[in-house]
Amino acid sequence: MNLNELTIKEAHQKLISGEISSRALTESCLAQIKKEDKNIHACLAICEEEALAAADKADARLKMGETGDLLGIPYLCKDIIMTKGLKTTAGSKILENYVAPYDATVIKKLNEAGAILLGKTNLDEFAHGASTENSAYGPTHNPLDLERVPGGSSGGSAAAVAAKMCLFSLGSDTGGSIRQPASFCGVVGLKPSYGRVSRFGLLSMTSSTDVIGPFTKSAYDAALVLKTIAGVDALDATTVPEVVEHYDKIMTGDNMENNQSTKPLAGIKIGWPEEYFLPELDFNVLARLQEAAATLEAAGAIIKKISLPYTKYAVPVYYIITPSEISSNLARFDGIGWGLAKDEAVNLQDFYKQTRGAGFGPEVKRRVMLGTYVLSAGYYDAYYKRAQAVRTLILEDFNKAFAEVDLILTPTSPHPAFKIGQQANDPLAMYLEDVFVTGASLAGLPAISMPAGLVSTEDGNNMPIGAQLIAPRLQEASLLRAAKILEKN
Ligand code: GLN
Repeated sequence: MNLNELTIKEAHQKLISGEISSRALTESCLAQIKKEDKNIHACLAICEEEALAAADKADARLKMGETGDLLGIPYLCKDIIMTKGLKTTAGSKILENYVAPYDATVIKKLNEAGAILLGKTNLDEFAHGASTENSAYGPTHNPLDLERVPGGSSGGSAAAVAAKMCLFSLGSDTGGSIRQPASFCGVVGLKPSYGRVSRFGLLSMTSSTDVIGPFTKSAYDAALVLKTIAGVDALDATTVPEVVEHYDKIMTGDNMENNQSTKPLAGIKIGWPEEYFLPELDFNVLARLQEAAATLEAAGAIIKKISLPYTKYAVPVYYIITPSEISSNLARFDGIGWGLAKDEAVNLQDFYKQTRGAGFGPEVKRRVMLGTYVLSAGYYDAYYKRAQAVRTLILEDFNKAFAEVDLILTPTSPHPAFKIGQQANDPLAMYLEDVFVTGASLAGLPAISMPAGLVSTEDGNNMPIGAQLIAPRLQEASLLRAAKILEKN
């Protein structure tokens, strides 16, 4: 087995026992990137020298007897998170030569923990999309079938973990961008509760739903990364003060290990929302989800049919609120403070037009226009205000459901990865990709996508599909415990 194929947990044990070095582990990941990324294009930039220097430092710390969970562990980071001294493009031409002047809080925390940043991953421009085809730097290919998309917007980060280029990666999830690519690439993708992880240094898309989270090879590894990056941050007023739990410890010990006779989920009620399992759902996807439910039942959980009646409004509400916040957040890209600046302009208005016209791609422009429209004086009440009111109803749906059940089980996506180009020119079809993932985002709830097996595609291939678990706010611990059961089977 090559070192890059290890999970964090396995690599950690080998690192602290001295069986392997962080340098060897890092070199193995860098070699895998060199070998595979010509075809996959998961990465936008690699910082080989810095990574090897950081690995040597980690090795020195290990020699001194330090045993941190992520010490010496190599990772990749979505190129929408600030990394000091490295380019941070957000997948956009407008930031093509932008070098971040500071580290995001999550990067700072990972640095302190001794994790090794290998480079930056591809994404839909400013995280607007569900396929990574909206990147100004070309699409990422799904490592399991190069003709297919890896999902998006964090497609590069998901593909990188699936192709074993790193032991984990960071993504951001505004309306599904960690969970859907995790589903398409067959890896674990965790979206923490809104406010659990600092957004400081994450380029804002939709500030009211944006959250950073990990892609990993196992639920346990997701717990290790979450534990490290979570917590209150004075630089992000929306972070919450609740103590960060030892998610990894909660997943081991007592009856979570391999003892067949115990029921680790005894008494846990899991909701099966009828609105996510409509008759038109692909029967292969349904079958995988039924298997997931049976696995949870075998571990002692009780599956209960529930209703989330406002589900059908999640996508329309999301596509009013998201463009609104985007049109406001992206106003700062005016060519003056940073990024692309067109100097042929004749006056200020013209300067903005030329800079933004040349710097933004079609999907970003579409969202800026939509958002500006729904926020304008004549339409604010009719669209934005109403969408906010319905958003509250969606949240209340979840609150009512969580009075009856502890977790909710749904598909992550209605189908496996689609072909590159298949719906690139159909924005509406692309927006409907988000049908199962936007609800938890609008409600700020933690959710995870776990590999749930394979389904056959139209051309007879087998591609992965994800099962999504959603928990009440800040209940990442119970989410991860159930996720671990799904993976064990
Ligand atoms: N597909 C969604 C969108 O295009 C998700 C984006 C995200 O979570 N960043 O808005």
